[in-house]
Amino acid sequence: MKKKINIQFLLIAFVAIVATWILAAVVFYELFQHEIMRDLKSYAKLISATKALDQMEEGDSYIEADDLRITLIAKDGSVLFDSNNDIGDMDNHITRPEVAEAFAKGAGESIRRSPTMKQNTYYYALRTERGSVLRLAKEAEGIMSIFARAIPMIVLIVLLLISLCMVLAHYLTKSLVTPIERMADHIDQVPQEGIYKELLPVVATIQKQHENIMKNARMRQDFTANVSHELKTPLTSISGYSELIESRMTNEEDTVRFAGEIHKSSKRLLTLINDIIRLSELDTADQEIPMEDVDLYQLAQSCVDMLQINAENHHVSIDLIGDHAIVRANKGMMEEVVYNLCDNAIRYNREDGTVTVQVYKNEEGTVLSVKDTGIGIPAEHQERIFERFYRVDKSRSKSTGGTGLGLAIVKHIVAQHGAQLTLTSEAGKGTEIKVTVRG
Ligand code: ADP
Repeated sequence: MKKKINIQFLLIAFVAIVATWILAAVVFYELFQHEIMRDLKSYAKLISATKALDQMEEGDSYIEADDLRITLIAKDGSVLFDSNNDIGDMDNHITRPEVAEAFAKGAGESIRRSPTMKQNTYYYALRTERGSVLRLAKEAEGIMSIFARAIPMIVLIVLLLISLCMVLAHYLTKSLVTPIERMADHIDQVPQEGIYKELLPVVATIQKQHENIMKNARMRQDFTANVSHELKTPLTSISGYSELIESRMTNEEDTVRFAGEIHKSSKRLLTLINDIIRLSELDTADQEIPMEDVDLYQLAQSCVDMLQINAENHHVSIDLIGDHAIVRANKGMMEEVVYNLCDNAIRYNREDGTVTVQVYKNEEGTVLSVKDTGIGIPAEHQERIFERFYRVDKSRSKSTGGTGLGLAIVKHIVAQHGAQLTLTSEAGKGTEIKVTVRG
């Protein structure tokens, strides 16, 4: 990047120098031409006002003026006097543009360029009071020759300027790039000053992504630690009880009891592993979920039927109200959602409590609500219960066969359906969880 900026700076500087030089040369050359013409004009006026003119007409003048050539032309175009040449050798001048112009208008001028543009001749002609034309000519260098002469100087200046530009470009690039480099070094704590404000949105995005990556990494780490911990408890008890049975130190009654414990722990292990596998499936599912038209009411009905015995065991009644409502969903996944919500509503209920499942439509879509009259969730826990392994009361969850993963699975599925999850709960009174599917 630095190299690129440097090269671009140099390129711009080079183009600017060359353009300025050409422009200056052209302007200067214009001025230079103008100045020569002005000189010729004043000389012509001066000479025409002196006696020299008479002498020239009579042909006995010795005016010599270094690089100035003076010619006097009679009305018919014949040359009366020329400071550089013998007039005998000179042809008729009537057709020379400056002479013709002077005869016609009083004064005329022209510049004749040599084909190589190295040498130019400037002519100025003035009609005198006697009707003849006084013409002055001066040779001067052409633009090419001026350019050629200036080349060494110009090369020197360009080299000097380019070296200066290189130094400046180096410092400028450094000052441009340093804040970016500083930002890259401390992307998580970017100082507000000394940083381009145009870059702040980029910084914000990167910071956010960085934060998310860190959060995900932490969550994954936590999850692994939690999984290990959760698996360890039932495995420890399985290992302990089986060891006791193996050592034949237990009587028949204890053996049966321990086998029961082993059975319970292994069932728990199975439930846990099933939930973990389910979550990891949901996490890695990258293909699109197959959707179909599902009657939410009918689906809820089958869940309620399935959980009826479970509810009775907990001395809780479970009912379904509402109307049939078709939504686009994955049937299996939706069943999991309803099952998990109803299961929680039964398990975290009180003696003789109720669970009401309701399916209805409102302006936002189709709502499935699972409402219980249970223990409720204290406000400070409400945000976190959808996290993996988060439980308000660990022992109650475990004693009722909970894994702490049910609501995490629910949240995942609901999100994959683009649906909305709302929780309303009051400790000691009950909980309502609503899933709103759009459409
Ligand atoms: P678990 O397997 O422990 O039930 P969940 O993810 O299903 O795990 O729920 C997480 C926690 O949220 C539960 O441990 C419980 O504390 C709380 N919770 C869930 N549903 C309810 C409910 N209907 N009433 C009260 N608390 C609930």
